[in-house]
Formats: sequence, C-alpha cells, structure tokens
Amino acid sequence: MAARPHVVILGAGFGGLRCAEALADVAVDVTVVDRNNFSTFQPLLYQVATAGLNAADVAYPVRSSLRRHPRVDFRWAEVVGVDWRTRTLALVDQSSAPEHGGGAAVERASLAFDHLVVAAGGAVNFFGVPGAAEHARPLYSLAEAVGVRNHVLREFEAAAAAGGRPASGGLTVVVVGGGPTGVEVAGAMAELFAKVFPADYPSLDVARARVVLVEAAPHLLGAFGAKSRRHARDTLVAKGVEVRIDEQVASIDGGGVTFVSGERIEARTVVWAAGVQGAPVSRALGLDTGKGGRIVVDAHLRVPGHDRVWAIGDIAQIDARAAGAPGDVLPGLAQVAMQGGRYVGTAIGAEAAGRAAPGPFRYRDKGIMATIGRRAAVVELSNGVRLWGTPAWLAWLGLHLLFLSGIRNRASVLLNWAWNYVVWNPASRLIFEPRDLGRSASGVAAGGQG
Ligand SMILES: Cc1cc2nc3c(=O)[nH]c(=O)nc-3n(C[C@H](O)[C@H](O)[C@H](O)COP(=O)(O)OP(=O)(O)OC[C@H]3O[C@@H](n4cnc5c(N)ncnc54)[C@H](O)[C@@H]3O)c2cc1C
Repeated sequence: MAARPHVVILGAGFGGLRCAEALADVAVDVTVVDRNNFSTFQPLLYQVATAGLNAADVAYPVRSSLRRHPRVDFRWAEVVGVDWRTRTLALVDQSSAPEHGGGAAVERASLAFDHLVVAAGGAVNFFGVPGAAEHARPLYSLAEAVGVRNHVLREFEAAAAAGGRPASGGLTVVVVGGGPTGVEVAGAMAELFAKVFPADYPSLDVARARVVLVEAAPHLLGAFGAKSRRHARDTLVAKGVEVRIDEQVASIDGGGVTFVSGERIEARTVVWAAGVQGAPVSRALGLDTGKGGRIVVDAHLRVPGHDRVWAIGDIAQIDARAAGAPGDVLPGLAQVAMQGGRYVGTAIGAEAAGRAAPGPFRYRDKGIMATIGRRAAVVELSNGVRLWGTPAWLAWLGLHLLFLSGIRNRASVLLNWAWNYVVWNPASRLIFEPRDLGRSASGVAAGGQG
C-alpha cells in the first residue's frame, strides 16, 4: 500500500488549525508544527495587557485542539529553514532549546513533507522608527501582553514606593496606532486607571495618570465608516483618553515619545499597535514576499513556483479582487485565516482523493468590529447592519466568546467579564514574570531554600 501523503502545517493559529480540521478525515498524515504548545486568541490580548483577563484564558493547548483527530500529530518546534530539493523543513525542537531547559547547544532536526501549508501569522512592524524596537512594547504574543501588564503595574508600584512621587512619565501610557487594537488598549487602560487604580493606590494622585492614543492618519479606525470613527473618538475622550490624530511618531526612547512636529510626551510605557508584517519565517523559507513581508500567493493560495506549497492567513498576501472582496489585499483578520485554512484543507483533500481541485479561493466578508470599553463598541456587518454603543458591545462579547477555543476558557472569560462588570476588581493584576516559576520550582527542588 502506498504511503499516505504527509501534510505539514506550519503554525497552529486560526488558519493552521482550521486547515488541520479540514484534513482530519482525509487519507493523509498531518503534522502541525508550532513554536508554542498553545494557540493564542489574539483579539483578546489587549485584555491580558490591561489586567482584565488571565493569560491562560486566551491561550489553548494545541494538543487539546487536535486530540479528536488521531491522524493529526503535533510537533513543538520552531521552523528555521527548508531544503526545497528534498522537501524537508529544518526545525529546532523546543523541548531541546536552552530557554526551555534543553542543552546549551541548539540542535537542528528535520521534517519531510509532501505538502506544506505556511500559516505562521504575522509579526510586529516598527516601520524603522528609531528606538521603537528597543523601547516600545508590541502586542502580538501572550508574553508581550503579560509584559505590558507587568510593566504598567511596576510603574505604579514604583510611584507608590517613592511616596507618591512618580518618575517623569511613570504614570503615562502612550499607545501608538489608532486601529482596532490601539483603540481597544487605550479604552481598557483608561478604565483601569479611572476605576481600579484609585482604590489600589490611595497614596497616588491617579487622576494625573494619562493614556495618550496617537494616530498618524486624520481619524481613528481607518477601516470603519465615519459614524463609527466619531463614536470611537468621542467615547475614548469621555473615558479620559487624550486622542492625538494627524500626529506621527519620530522616535521613542526610554523616557518618552517625540513626534515629527517636535512635541514630546514623557512616558515610560509605550504600546506599539501601529503595524504588522508577515512572520519572519517567510525569509527563512526564502519565499517571495510582497508588501509587508507577506508571501505572495495565487488565486488558489498556492505559492507560485513551488509545487504543493500554500500560504494562508496573516502571512499570505492574498489578492482581494481575485478573492471577490473589495480592496487590494485581504486584511489580517481571523476570518481570512480561518476561511483560507478550510479552503486549503479541502484542496489538499481533493488532490489526495483524486478529485478535481476547487475553484479559486473566495473570501466571505462577514464584517468588522472593535470594542472601545465597557458598553461601547462599533460593529459594521457586511449586510449593511451597523451597531454602536451597548448593542455593539453585546454583539462583540458574544462573538468573541463563540470563537474562543475550549469550554473552560469560555466559562472563565465569561465569569471574569461578569465579575469585573459588577465590581471593577479584575483578578489578574499580577506582576508575574515567567522566570518566577523557574525560581520557585528550583527552590523547592533544592530543599525549599530561596
Ligand atoms: C492584538 C491583536 C488583536 C486582534 N484583533 C482581531 C479582531 O478583533 N478580529 C480579527 O478578526 N482579527 C484580529 N486580529 C488578527 C488575527 O488575530 C489574525 O488575523 C489571525 O491570528 C491570523 O491567523 P493566522 O493563522 O494567520 O496566524 P496566527 O493565529 O498568528 O498563528 C500563527 C502561528 O504560527 C506560529 N509560528 C510563527 N512562526 C513560527 C515558526 N518559525 N515556527 C513555528 N511556529 C511558528 C505562531 O507561534 C502562531 O501560533 C488581531 C491581532 C492582534 C495581534
């Protein structure tokens, strides 16, 4: 009997997991490779950064997602290269990586594939702004979200320890980028400052704490209509956010942000929500990339010039017109990744079964939404329905719960939201560095010392 084709899916995010599910009952063997052993629900990362949710609420073990599919295996590894001639990926197994307790030397392993689906997502783009990579905090991974939370809490603790006299810019958060993520972070951070911190830090004049949202375009939420943009701006201002539009960041340093206009804001926390590009693995694979480092694909999401190689989701540059959608390139949205994943799974399944390949990929745009804070959101559905305020917020809550992986996560998020809604006392205001875990574990192992 001929061996079944081996499909390797690089990335266990929205796109990769949908592709794996679509292949679960097909006569192929599937290996999903991810450098994390969990998937991250990025749309709720801003709530981790602003202490509204625990990190574990927005992450889900990949093996749990795949346990119902015996033909789909998981490999906890980072992809670092490829040999196209032998169709073999070069990997670093994370279990052997020094940062996870492996040996000092990084050893490479290999993984052969018949089909490769690149679903490695995106990465932050600092657009070369001087000092941004060193001093601004992106919000793309769970570790980064926890890093923002830790940092903000640390600044407030430092101010309290200094007898209520914060360092210059210590109680100021600048959020760069007025898209959905920037709006969401700014709104939630302002609520944290206004509703939670005054009781937490009675020795501080928390009213002096600032949240500044900076956007280079003349309006927030560029992808939304005029009324939604206005609603977002008015709501943020009412929450105490200083909205600065038409303002471009020239440089960032450890003490603050300088605009092209020459104005400077002292701020010890800068959150970067301004730019996204394709994950760097596209370079390691040597594939042709277009705008923003995204892999160029054809109308079938195949990588031109490579047999049986696809790219989907945030890492793919998908021609919007070819996919039947407005604009030039499909946006980096969960729906684009999920629909692309299902499509490629179906295409590989058809090939394995000797059936005709499906027609070109068509994207079904369901609409866009962003939350601005408690009982405030904007929703624009593709059927023309527009919602603002509380109805939009309820729609946003419901949809995010629906797409979150795992019943436990959904229950935990719902409980957290309900609790925070009633008492304004989020439980996740922890300053908890991942290294703390190692420290206490080694203390116990060493006989409870330290
Ligand atoms: C803060 C934030 C908020 C967002 N909010 C929304 C929203 O409200 N609505 C919406 O529709 N979209 C939102 N998005 C976008 C949405 O999350 C992405 O479009 C979606 O995650 C893309 O899915 P993907 O499968 O392409 O990549 P991802 O879901 O990012 O998954 C990629 C996976 O690849 C893995 N990986 C990367 N490189 C390697 C490597 N070299 N080796 C091994 N593994 C690798 C990563 O660990 C990751 O698990 C948001 C994004 C962010 C960052």
